[in-house]
Amino acid sequence: MQLSNIKVPSQQVSFLQAVRIGLGEQQGLFFPTQWPQLDVPRLLDMSFVERSSHILASLIGDELTAAEVQQMVEAAFAFPAPLAPVTDDVACLELFHGPTLAFKDFGGRFMAQALVKAQQAENVRKTTIVTATSGDTGAAVAHAFYQQPGVEVVILFPEGKISPLQEKLFTTLGKNIHTLAVNADFDACQALVKEVFNDKALVQQLNINSANSINISRLFAQICYYFEAVAQVPANQREQVVISVPSGNFGNLTAGLIAKVLGLPIKRLIAATNANDTVPRYWKDGLWAPNKTVATLSNAMDVSAPNNWPRVEALLAQGLVGRDELEAVMVDEEDTQLSMRQLASLGYVSEPHAAVAYKALKRSLQPGEYGIFLGTAHPAKFKEQVENILGSPIALPAELAAVASEASLAVSMNADYVQLRQALLALDK
Ligand SMILES: *Cc1c(COP(=O)(O)O)cnc(C)c1O
Repeated sequence: MQLSNIKVPSQQVSFLQAVRIGLGEQQGLFFPTQWPQLDVPRLLDMSFVERSSHILASLIGDELTAAEVQQMVEAAFAFPAPLAPVTDDVACLELFHGPTLAFKDFGGRFMAQALVKAQQAENVRKTTIVTATSGDTGAAVAHAFYQQPGVEVVILFPEGKISPLQEKLFTTLGKNIHTLAVNADFDACQALVKEVFNDKALVQQLNINSANSINISRLFAQICYYFEAVAQVPANQREQVVISVPSGNFGNLTAGLIAKVLGLPIKRLIAATNANDTVPRYWKDGLWAPNKTVATLSNAMDVSAPNNWPRVEALLAQGLVGRDELEAVMVDEEDTQLSMRQLASLGYVSEPHAAVAYKALKRSLQPGEYGIFLGTAHPAKFKEQVENILGSPIALPAELAAVASEASLAVSMNADYVQLRQALLALDK
C-alpha cells in the first residue's frame, strides 16, 4: 500500500514507513490514494479476528504477509466488541472491553504491533513516542507499549482536565512510560507535539514517533470494529444501519467513513460532538472557524481543531463520500445529561461520550432504520460524573480499582517548547 502526504503529495511512503514517521512533511497526514475491493458478504460471515486480519492485510498490501498480519491482530484484538441492544432499533457497540476500558485500546495495541515490524524493517534500535492525550489515548498507548524493549513513551496531558481515574491509568506505570502534566488545555498539548515533529534534528536524533490518532496504523485498526458492528446486526436490517460516533479528533469517524468506502453497508454516519462544535458549524455554513476549546462532561472530545479532519476532506474531495452520507450534530451539556438519564431508564448505564452519540442518533434516526452508537469508554472511567448525573453508585472494574490508590508519577510543566525539548533530550542516554 502506497500512502501519500495530503499536504505534500510528492512525499510517498509505504505502510511501515508511515507507521514509523507518523506525521509527514509540513505536518501533513499520510493517507492512501487508492482503496482495495473487499468481498463484504463473505467477510461478514467470519470471526472478528479472521475478518480483521483480512481487512488489514488488504489495506497493508504485500509489505507484510497475511500470516504476519494475522499474528498481529491476534495479539492486539484480544477482547470482544459486542453490540449491546438498548431498544428494538438502537444498540451500543461496546468498544471498552480492552485493558484500559476505552476504544483506543484497539488502535494503540495494533500500532504497537505495527511499530515492532516497522523497527525491524528499517533496523531501528530505539523509538521515542511523543503523544498528547485528552484522556484515553495516554492510557491505551502507555499500556500497549509498557516495557516494550527499544521504545520510550512520553505522554503530555492537560493538567487537571481529565478524570482522576483516567490519569491514574497511565501516570502510575513508570519504567519506559514518562508523563508530563501540562498547565494548559489539550489543543496546547497537541500544538507542542506538532512542534516536536517540526524539529527535524530532534526527530532524527531520538527517532520520534507519534502514537496519536494521526498514525495510520491506529486508523486502519479502527476500521475493523465497524465491520464487527454490522456483522452483529440481524441480516434483514443490515441495509438500514446508521452509526453515530462521539467525535473529538475525528479519527474514529474517519475509520467509519473508510469502512463505508470499503463497501460496508452503512447508510449514514453521524459525527456527534459536544459544545466544541467546529465541524457541525462547518458542515452547515462551510466556514472553518474553531473557537476556543471549552471543557465539557465528555472531556476526551474537548477538541476544537480536530487533527483528522483533512482525511475526511480527502475522502470528500475524491468523491468517495457524499454529503448526504455524513451528518454532524452538536449535543450540549444539558442534553448529554438528559441522554444519560434516558439510557439509564432504558436499563443501560452509559457515560458522557456515548451519551452524546446516543442523543445525536435519536435526533437523526428515521422509522425503519437501525441505529448504532459507539460506546467509546466504560462508564466507570467517569465514575464521579456518572454517579452524580444518575444518582446511583457504579462499581469499579478490577483494572481501575487496582490503580486508583497508586501515586501519580507525572511531572508538571508549562506549555513551553524549550522545556519539553530538554525533557526529551534527557531520555537519550
Ligand atoms: C478519544 C475519545 C473520543 C474521540 O475519538 P476521536 O477519534 O478523537 O474522535 C471519544 N470518546 C472517548 C471516550 C475517547 O477517549
